[in-house]
Amino acid sequence: MSDFEGIRALVTGGASGIGRATAELLAERGAQVAVLDLDPSSVDKPLLAYRADVTDDASVREAVAAAVADLGGHGVLDVLINNAGIGAQGTVEDNSDDDWHRVYDVNVVGMVRTTRACLPHLRASAHAAIVNTCSIAATAGLPQRALYSATKGAVYSLTLAMAADHVREGIRVNCVNPGTVDTPWVGRLLDTAPDPAAERAALEARQPTGRLVGAGEVACAIAYLASPLSGATTGTSLAVDGGMQGLRLRPV
Ligand code: NAD
Repeated sequence: MSDFEGIRALVTGGASGIGRATAELLAERGAQVAVLDLDPSSVDKPLLAYRADVTDDASVREAVAAAVADLGGHGVLDVLINNAGIGAQGTVEDNSDDDWHRVYDVNVVGMVRTTRACLPHLRASAHAAIVNTCSIAATAGLPQRALYSATKGAVYSLTLAMAADHVREGIRVNCVNPGTVDTPWVGRLLDTAPDPAAERAALEARQPTGRLVGAGEVACAIAYLASPLSGATTGTSLAVDGGMQGLRLRPV
């Protein structure tokens, strides 16, 4: 694991789950880390916390400006983790136009807004990296996830396009594709089942490894892609899915 001493990082959706684990890992490794979240009330020092809604351009710009100033790098930001996201279940018949606009606005345009606000600061870094949290849903053809999968497909394309646009500026852009990760998000989904414990056991049984992915395991992959250890890597995705994609296994 690389040393993040002197690195200034910003993590969206960093108050919970994968974003929280990533923010804490980067901070443990020496980075100064700012978290942007709808509800950052649970975020403790040494993490810096900013309330922002990635669907609101003004709130993103204000939070990024405040975070970059507080990180103290004279306007430099080294790492952006575009992680904030929400879920959606169902087929194309189950989600309304409003659902499509709402989820796309968070999962895709939210990344665009945050990246736009951060790019001037990333350009000032000697080793800038962006890591987008995508999903195996981008390419796996998961049932009952039409809207969510389409947003993550867009995140995957956006990652490639951003990597191409900014490679000559020294900004690397990659994404991680998690499988089913044990975060509060999955906990909320299980809580809606008639028997959450049985549902959890069924979910675990569907994983090639027989267990859910840990948020810390996704954080490690994000940290690798954010670090100089992956200095020759841009425009790629890294699956962190317990083998689901590589072994061509998927939930039914
Ligand atoms: P989570 O619900 O635990 O955390 C998501 C965080 O994003 C929360 O703190 C929430 O407040 C924040 N957020 C949501 N909407 C926001 C908005 N409009 N503006 C600012 N912040 C907002 O979820 P998680 O499981 O850690 O998921 C994080 C990312 O990982 C998402 O992009 C998700 O699509 C992706 N992902 C999750 C899984 C999984 O199984 N948990 C699998 C693949 C990909």
